[in-house]
Amino acid sequence: MKEDQRMEYDGKTRLCGLIGNPVEHTISPLIHNTLARLKNQNLVYVPFHVKENLSDAVKGAYALNVLGMNVTVPYKSDVMESIVDIDELAERIGAVNTLVRTENGYKGYNTDMPGLLRGMQSDGIEIEGKDVVIVGAGGVARAVAVLCAFSKVRKVYLMNRTVSKAEAIANEVNNSFHKEIVTALGLHDFDSLPDEKMLAIQCTNIGMHPDVDSTPIEDAEFFEKIHTVYDLIYNPEETKFMKLAKSYGAKAYNGLKMLLYQGIIAFERWTDTKVSEEEANYVYRILKLRGKECKHLILIGYMGSGKSTLGIKLSYRLQTPFLDTDKQIEREQGISISDIFANHGEAYFRDLETNQLEKIKKETSTLILSTGGGLPMREENRKLLKEMGMVVYLKASSQTIYDRVKTDTTRPLLQCDNPKEKIEKMLLERGPFYEEAADVIIETDGKTCEEVLSEIIMHWNV
Ligand code: NAP
Repeated sequence: MKEDQRMEYDGKTRLCGLIGNPVEHTISPLIHNTLARLKNQNLVYVPFHVKENLSDAVKGAYALNVLGMNVTVPYKSDVMESIVDIDELAERIGAVNTLVRTENGYKGYNTDMPGLLRGMQSDGIEIEGKDVVIVGAGGVARAVAVLCAFSKVRKVYLMNRTVSKAEAIANEVNNSFHKEIVTALGLHDFDSLPDEKMLAIQCTNIGMHPDVDSTPIEDAEFFEKIHTVYDLIYNPEETKFMKLAKSYGAKAYNGLKMLLYQGIIAFERWTDTKVSEEEANYVYRILKLRGKECKHLILIGYMGSGKSTLGIKLSYRLQTPFLDTDKQIEREQGISISDIFANHGEAYFRDLETNQLEKIKKETSTLILSTGGGLPMREENRKLLKEMGMVVYLKASSQTIYDRVKTDTTRPLLQCDNPKEKIEKMLLERGPFYEEAADVIIETDGKTCEEVLSEIIMHWNV
């Protein structure tokens, strides 16, 4: 975004692409062209708007020596007629989204479902031997049901508004795998779900932008039986279904990782390379930052995480003004933060922080911001931070923080009998909020200031 990092193309550049109708809104070029740069592959990926004559398009791509193709709506099943071989999972799912060049033509794969599986694994979710709820019975839900059967899920509860569609999928999967794996249910048959908490994979399009206030299910009886939600929608970042799940204590993830990993698996097949978790995380952060103005570079974290020190160094290195929200509040109020707390209470100070963010949001030029340690605790502030630019969480362990601040007598929070225990407790409370607010998380333990600085600049220069 900040620098022109396009590859140099030459006579050896390989071509990959996407065929579909429409294709204008795809973010696959961002995934593959970033991967190509990262893995030093002389490859470019472009979308092809195929309005008709799908088989001609596939033949033409092969004749033009195109290395590989992704296939999207509406061609994922029709494309099977134009390929010379098909992978077993893709055949069972009945949808091909990736074409891999072979000697005689393209072989078709489905990387959407392995992408979902790898995305869930990267979030620590395993499905083998477990019970899973699938919400919806459209094309994607059907593919997820096949994936579950293929991945040895114990039992699938397939809930859909139109029960007959859920029944059709259940019959098909159970017959194909010769086992009663899938049970079809209506969208409100909560009593038929087992009492043990389960993973729920949300496969309807309800809640997708701009219809962000809708959810396929909002009943407590459902969410009380769910420990984790995987919503395949990724716009908005947090759907109403995810919000509800969180309010009942469940974990919630969106579908961006599925999108990321379906691309990664296709890229690995085309280039015969392996994308590491670290590289995947790098591309994931780029996807999360897409479309953002990225006006301000914002540092968040607990006291002693290096926000001010690094902020000043970044300001010098990037020739960009630095602003510390705490210092700015003190300047504007004419008293110290401890006096604001003592005279007016914490709620008053938190309001000042929110006002401060609203003012900074209107700044037209880029700033490096260091924020107060408690600022991301407020939901409103986390939302504002996300709108203002790239949020970097400088993560440090309680031991590191204690070592950094133990001799600092100016920090009122640490004037207690056991400061180390207090740091541990506060980090446990605040850590999840920092992580939720962050676009980029940088582990600072054991790293020099210069190393952390370089990492921040690398992300900023994406
Ligand atoms: P689809 O075939 O059109 O299926 C839509 C599903 O939504 C059906 O189960 C339908 O129920 C249900 N539904 C629609 N309106 C409803 C309503 N008002 N109330 C209750 N249920 C309703 O769609 P699809 O192709 O399976 O795609 C589903 C979603 O998957 C997409 O919207 C997309 O967000 C997501 N997706 C994500 C990725 C990724 O990479 N993350 C990739 C592909 C798709 P009925 O059967 O009763 O009509």
